[in-house]
Amino acid sequence: MKSPFLVAGAGIGGLAAALALARKGIPVDVIEQAAEIKEVGAGIQFGPNGFRMMDRLGLRDAVNHLAVFPDDLILMDGVSAEEITRIHVGQAFRDKFGYPYALIHRADLHSVLLKAAEESGLVRVHAGQSLERFEDDGERVIVATREGQRYEGQALIGADGLWSKVRQAVIGDGKPRVSGHIAYRAVLPIEKVPEQYRKNAMILWAGPKNHLVQYPLRGGELFNLVAVFHSDRYDEGWDAEGEREELFKRFANNCETVKTLLGKIDTWRMWVLCDRDPIEKWSDGRVTLLGDAAHPMLQYLAQGACMAIEDGVILADMVMSSGGDLPSAFNNYQEARHLRAGRCQVTARLYGEFYHADGVKAKLRTQMLSGRTAEQAYE
Ligand code: FAD
Repeated sequence: MKSPFLVAGAGIGGLAAALALARKGIPVDVIEQAAEIKEVGAGIQFGPNGFRMMDRLGLRDAVNHLAVFPDDLILMDGVSAEEITRIHVGQAFRDKFGYPYALIHRADLHSVLLKAAEESGLVRVHAGQSLERFEDDGERVIVATREGQRYEGQALIGADGLWSKVRQAVIGDGKPRVSGHIAYRAVLPIEKVPEQYRKNAMILWAGPKNHLVQYPLRGGELFNLVAVFHSDRYDEGWDAEGEREELFKRFANNCETVKTLLGKIDTWRMWVLCDRDPIEKWSDGRVTLLGDAAHPMLQYLAQGACMAIEDGVILADMVMSSGGDLPSAFNNYQEARHLRAGRCQVTARLYGEFYHADGVKAKLRTQMLSGRTAEQAYE
């Protein structure tokens, strides 16, 4: 058996990379710090680019089965309750981009990847093992975990997320940038949502220094809410318990629909949103990065997970075409990826400004975004 690739992190990106390598016949050891391999209970918007990658991994039908396909992506003014713009994502959109726009429960997407990786027979996932350090001796990489295990492989992929230890060793650029934006997320059974608010659409209610996103999940059984606001009160917090009162204070000037929807949830989880500036190189010898470890972005384009999956698939392609020269495969991979991912990092910040605009800026936003076509919005 060939020496395996090592992947640090069994998130969406790490599992996509592991599966993509396995599909090429390469064995992979995935090292995951959590004792249980799972994703958070929240929704994810999944653009056609993410869908295309899942198709390449042989998972098109599995995703089709789990996803909700909205009719529209709608931007509403979260104060006046007027529609700003509506992008149809029906058949014409699918024809144009080759794949649909989907809404998926993160846990479903994650378990589809995990199941396929395990069924490949080439991926071993080691839960409860936290990468502490590694050494690249030019021929192999040796990883040591905090729990005292040692793993050896032909290369290491750091898919260990926003606070990546692998990134610290490869790039050493300190902590990610705290954006001052806080996300509260919750999922509730659809029966708890009054009939008039149930739409087969992703709706974003843009308010001053806040916004609320709503959409259905899992065949319409569930309803996903993401509430975002500006605050300098927090400098950390990831999947932590959110404060309901704080949320209501931040959305006090929003329209009734927004307040009614917020009122349907008793328990919120909170994320302090962080990102980084784009970089050009994130590989060193037999070690590289992907997903949030390489290019963490704010979620305003709904592209972080899609980019992580794209990374995994392209990385495996580059490994196959490199004739065994892994340092050059990793250079080609980052060359192919950094501008595309960097564009998302930069544009996501801009969209955050648009969504949270106030006064004249809000009027400008309406003027600039109203009447945009799917091509303009999603190219
Ligand atoms: P992660 O999902 O963070 O996975 C990293 C994994 O590494 C984790 O399992 C972690 O436990 C493990 N790990 C960490 N350190 C170690 C270590 N030392 N050793 C071993 N394992 C380790 N993206 C979209 O495409 N669409 C959306 O709609 C969308 N909405 C979002 C909404 C919010 C509020 C947020 C915060 C993000 C959103 N994203 C969205 C972005 C998306 O969630 C991330 O970009 C994506 O999950 C990144 O995947 P990843 O595998 O790179 O990292």
